[in-house]
Amino acid sequence: MRPAVLVTKPLPKSCIAALERHYTVHMLVGVPEPDAVLAKHGAEVRAIAGGKVPRSLMEQLPNLEIIANSGVGVDSIDLNAAQARNIAVTNTPGVLNDSVAELAIALMLALARSVPQADRFVREGKWQERMFPLRNELSGKTAGILGLGRIGKEIARRLAALKMKIVYCGRTKQEDQPYAFISDPVALAHECDWLVVIAPGGKATDKIVSRQVLEALGPEGYLVNVARGSLVDQPALIELLQSGKLGGAALDVFDDEPNVPAELLTLENVIVSPHQGSRTEEAREAMGRLVAENIIAHFEGRPLPSRVA
Ligand code: NDP
Repeated sequence: MRPAVLVTKPLPKSCIAALERHYTVHMLVGVPEPDAVLAKHGAEVRAIAGGKVPRSLMEQLPNLEIIANSGVGVDSIDLNAAQARNIAVTNTPGVLNDSVAELAIALMLALARSVPQADRFVREGKWQERMFPLRNELSGKTAGILGLGRIGKEIARRLAALKMKIVYCGRTKQEDQPYAFISDPVALAHECDWLVVIAPGGKATDKIVSRQVLEALGPEGYLVNVARGSLVDQPALIELLQSGKLGGAALDVFDDEPNVPAELLTLENVIVSPHQGSRTEEAREAMGRLVAENIIAHFEGRPLPSRVA
């Protein structure tokens, strides 16, 4: 009997086709009654392709062997529950670096030069009435990267090309990196004009960008979050943005997605984006390939290309 694979997140057609060549594929996304799918096929399922796997879903899949997450962050998977049942977990590192890095740069330039506002200004005929206000350059400023990993390094490369000075923070100093290491996030925020957050979500980084960090960034400072909402103290962020104690923010991720606090939407010094860091055709295609490769490797008894747990 062909193993059954459950698809829990939208995946590219090429990925679904690759899985269908080897396995019986059941869709849990895009179907009117996901519960009925689980009730009918839950016991057959041996692999998940996608992500978003809380303990409650795992409990309905007694024969689950592998969760192939589409995405590098595995914070939507209950890793403890997976480990307790010896369920392998894989992710899709590396193949989305350029996509996320490009979005970070786009958000920074958009915020620095008020690109959305400038577009509205022209469309609404205001240019005929007055000139657009002066804005600031990235050139010559300091970017602090919180999480100089695979994606963080790609962001740093691009920001260096934009003539920014780079400093970074993490748990460990990386001797092979040309940038200055600052071990404490508050000290990093004091040192930089733009704080770019790109460390993993989860307990260890929960609210690592605290009120104190945001205050250290200050009225001339900007926060860029392309990591996870959980890393930032969102209520403090809103309060400091409203009171002018923080210069601005560009946010691809939020606490309770897809809900974005109304307060953020009224602020002119905020750019919002719908968690689209890896949402490019190129990245999604490559992520889908890696999801399928992990599942195929598992059932062929080969080492998994990108196992995280
Ligand atoms: P990596 O594992 O390559 O890099 C993570 C970096 O974060 C490392 O440099 C690590 O350095 C640092 N880090 C880890 N834990 C901590 C901590 N407790 N405190 C401070 N720094 C820490 O991951 P990627 O670059 O591939 O991805 C990073 C994250 O980006 C993902 O986990 C995901 O959440 C997010 N992401 C967001 C996307 C979006 O759509 N917006 C898309 C893709 C990813 P050190 O080990 O020295 O601490």
